[in-house]
Order: sequence, then structure tokens, then C-alpha cells
Amino acid sequence: MARTDRKQKLYDLGKEALSRLLGRDVPGYVCPICLNYFEGLDNLTEEHVPPKSIGGEVLCLTCRECNCGAGHGVDAHVDREKLGRSFLAADGQVRRAKIVVQGIRANVDVRRDEKGIQIQVLGGENDPKAVGALQPVLRDGIQSGSSFQLRDTVSFSRKEADIGYLSSAYLAAFAKLGYTYILRAALDRVRQQIQDPTCRALETVRVYAGDFGGTERAFFLLDEPISCLAAKIRDSVVCLPSPYGDDHFYEELTSLRGSGGRVTWRRSEAIRWPDRFELALDFAEEEDHEGPTSGCG
Ligand SMILES: [Zn+2]
Repeated sequence: MARTDRKQKLYDLGKEALSRLLGRDVPGYVCPICLNYFEGLDNLTEEHVPPKSIGGEVLCLTCRECNCGAGHGVDAHVDREKLGRSFLAADGQVRRAKIVVQGIRANVDVRRDEKGIQIQVLGGENDPKAVGALQPVLRDGIQSGSSFQLRDTVSFSRKEADIGYLSSAYLAAFAKLGYTYILRAALDRVRQQIQDPTCRALETVRVYAGDFGGTERAFFLLDEPISCLAAKIRDSVVCLPSPYGDDHFYEELTSLRGSGGRVTWRRSEAIRWPDRFELALDFAEEEDHEGPTSGCG
């Protein structure tokens, strides 16, 4: 499908979903992050959820400002965090690193695959003296079996990467459930945090969850200790308010953490990650609005 056709389709779906929810024809597409109306495709962009760099696909549209503004820097942090955490993975990818050997420091490219590690000293990005000194040291060092250090030079901000994951979880929940979900009052804080990554609208955004299992990306509807929609992306989990809970999710989460001890979430059935712009609650028939039957987990 041509890009404009795909964009138009997403635009029409979003417009129709909101018209159904509000019971009247709306004038355009509402950006899920800033909630502004946009008439026509000009100022809307296709949004990769999660970012393209960690394998995301186009799931919905956001406005140009929300997609390219704050979010852009955040995506870069998500990308760098991924690179940093996979440093020296045997995946054949070239990564920048620093080598320290016998007191000499230099910037190198490192590539590891199943055969071994290749280290290339970067001529243009080093003091020529260091490069000259390094050549024989590396050669002789390898022969005598002495050690050297390789340091990862990837830097990222955990906070900024958190916002990237929050934004992906929020937009995926939007693509899955629609405006019915994101227009709940409890989601105001999420948008505030995404639009201004430096603010502290949310205390905890993401937790590592190695034991969550399941596929690389999925949603879980949890009941205990409080209702929440957990979005699993890679090895992280972002907790969002439940589509069926009350509007005090974040206050409850804060008091739960304040009461001390670890919060253990009881797992439930996985809900499939959206592979298209589903807007399921907006398009649901009346009888489907009651929510899931309780007792899972
Ligand atoms: Zn926007």
C-alpha cells in the first residue's frame, strides 16, 4: 500500500472511531498525545510503536510536533539503551568502544560474531601517537596473552529511555483500545509525562521484568494488587491504568509503594499486541462495554 493511502486509512479510522464514541461527526483526526484536532494529513505523521530502532511498526498517527519534538530525542535514548545492553553480543554488529591497554587509550570499532572479536583502531578519531603506540602493543599483547580492557561508550539516559517506553506503551494501548481508553482522566498524567519528559508527573514508569515471560511484546490485564494494564516491551514492563479500573490508578500505585515492601503483580492472560490500528473499544458493540469477567490471575 502506498504511504499516503496507508496514512489516509489510519486517519479515516481514527476519525470514525472518535465520531462513534462522541456520537457526532468530528472534523478531523485527534492526535493521541496532545489531543489537538488535525484536518487533513499535512501535519500528521505515521508513528512507529515501539520506535523503529527496536522493531516497531506503524500503528497510528501522531501530529508532527508530538512525533518529531520531545519524542525524537527519547527514541534515540531507547535505541542507545538497547545497544548498550547488548554490548559484545555476538551479533556481527559494529559498535564503538574505547580500548585501554598498557595505559594507552584509543577509540575503536568492535565487531563480535561466532568466530571471535574484531577490533579496529579508528585512525581519524584518535591521537596519532596513541595509534602508533597501540599497533605493536596489540600485536605483541595478543602473542603474550596479556589483557586489555574494552569499554562501552554508549551513553543513554534511563529517564529519557523510560519516557520512550511509556510513550510506546501508551500509543500501543491507544491503537489497541482507542479513544475510549485514552480519554479516561487517569491517562492525563501519562500524556503530561510524555509531552514534558523532564516533569515528574509519574513516579515510576517502567520496571524490568525478566520473569514476565510471553512474547517480546504483549499486554496483560492485572487485578492484583491494583487493576492495571501492563505493557511488556522486550524485558521491560510499563504499568498503565486499567481500561476498566477507577481513575485513581497513580494515587493508588503511589500509596502502594509508600506502604513499603515489594509490589508483586499477579499475572493474567496475555492480550495480543496490536498489529494494526484496532481501536477495539471505540468500535465495540454496546454489550461489549462491560469489560472482562473478573477472577483471572
Ligand atoms: Zn500531537
